[in-house]
Amino acid sequence: MYHCYHAKKLKYILLLDLLLIMIVIGVNAWHHHAVMTAVSYQEGIFLPVIMYHSITENPETDYQLSPEMFAQDLYYLHANGYHTVSAGQLFAYTEGRDTLPEKPVMITFDDGFYNNLSIALPMLEKYDMCAVVSVVGYYSDVTAEKDPHVDRYSYLTWEDIQALEASGRIEIGSHTYNLHSNAQRAGCSILYGEDIDNYQAMLKEDLSLLQTRMIQETGITPKIFAYPYGFVCRESIPVLKEMGFFCTLTCREQGNYITRDPSCLYGLDRYNRNPEESTEAFFSHVLQENS
Ligand SMILES: [Zn+2]
Repeated sequence: MYHCYHAKKLKYILLLDLLLIMIVIGVNAWHHHAVMTAVSYQEGIFLPVIMYHSITENPETDYQLSPEMFAQDLYYLHANGYHTVSAGQLFAYTEGRDTLPEKPVMITFDDGFYNNLSIALPMLEKYDMCAVVSVVGYYSDVTAEKDPHVDRYSYLTWEDIQALEASGRIEIGSHTYNLHSNAQRAGCSILYGEDIDNYQAMLKEDLSLLQTRMIQETGITPKIFAYPYGFVCRESIPVLKEMGFFCTLTCREQGNYITRDPSCLYGLDRYNRNPEESTEAFFSHVLQENS
């Protein structure tokens, strides 16, 4: 009886121990999963963003690239399994409404050159890719009207901008109405000692003029903003948010991590594609995650 009691008790203790071990393993597995989920949520999806300007023969500056090299870039991305994503797709992802493809990459063009339509767009179509083209309102309103449709140097007319948008693979961004060539301030940054209210009123007036002219001439409302020369100042952010821009682009040369938080699209960093490097050399560092 005595032994029998102890045998039963031992069996009961062993069962209890087994149950406890199973609970501990289960809790650990759940904890591990929760930690991994939290880590991947925080780190986000790696996104390199490439900044092009003019695609033209015989490049002479850091902001020109030959059509042949541009074609090589697109082929390289395609052959290595990269998929271009639009700013709209990124926004939907950050709000939890969409997924992103494997190996996402973003292509952008600044300044609004006509060759973005005449040369770059057919190449993007060939590889089923998309891009953001950020234009300067004054260049379309005045400069392009005087001397349109020259591949080498013309800017996009309003009709050209409409044609880009109608392709279904180009999003039109703002690059200010006329702060790009402003000699006094670098791009649209606040000046040293400038009154913040005055600065924000000036910025809002300039950006509003581009929105107004763009809507009048094309029906498009830009929601992406590219800082001229990448000069960012924090005083610009409330103005851009109030005006409904959901994505802003800088020129800091590093990759980005896209999370389920829409604010991660404010200040996407970009690599300028200058013609000095081969396609392989350029992408060998651009497509690497930040260390
Ligand atoms: Zn620019």
